[in-house]
Amino acid sequence: MRLFIITNSYTYGRLNWHMHCNIFVMNRLVSITLVFLGIFSSSCGINKHFDKQKKPEGYVRQFSTTDDRFKSHVTKFENHAKIKTGNMNFKINDIPINFGDTENEQYVGVCFSYSDGKKEILIKAIWWNMASNDAKESLIFHELGHCALDRNHNEDHILNSKGEKIRASVMHPAIVSSRDYNEYYDGYVHELFTTDKGILTSLFN
Ligand SMILES: [Zn+2]
Repeated sequence: MRLFIITNSYTYGRLNWHMHCNIFVMNRLVSITLVFLGIFSSSCGINKHFDKQKKPEGYVRQFSTTDDRFKSHVTKFENHAKIKTGNMNFKINDIPINFGDTENEQYVGVCFSYSDGKKEILIKAIWWNMASNDAKESLIFHELGHCALDRNHNEDHILNSKGEKIRASVMHPAIVSSRDYNEYYDGYVHELFTTDKGILTSLFN
């Protein structure tokens, strides 16, 4: 039996890191056999991005400081946070960000938390080196949403004035495209820190 699982991790243009699962059964005989066996599969079973992960006991953090290349994004996140939360002392504190192994082909970034309470964010270098600045920020803000704000994913969509379905949060499992992120920036930043979609909705219309 030959089963091919083709995973297209992400398309750079739309910055879509959903896994697209396609299983091609290459041999008709195999298909018939599968019918008889009652084994149908239209999905590989892993179609949800989940990059907020608790590591089991025994695992320890790999880094203790943030790579300089991420520091400007962290500062920008903290500046937005100060305004949106009203806490002028807001700091990311002890959440180092570094290039590393996200431990899943489809994840370009991941927020790990460990049994000793420590956290860290790891970013896939091969993706980072090809991404636009908007895409980079969108990814770092998404991962900090998990690690620093303790937010989970939000899969809401809102229709814009052109009738297009737009992801209504930076915390969408498939992060927003560079185009949308840029166009509706104030709304996305507001939603990230407050979960209020009011500004985003008004910008869409
Ligand atoms: Zn996520």
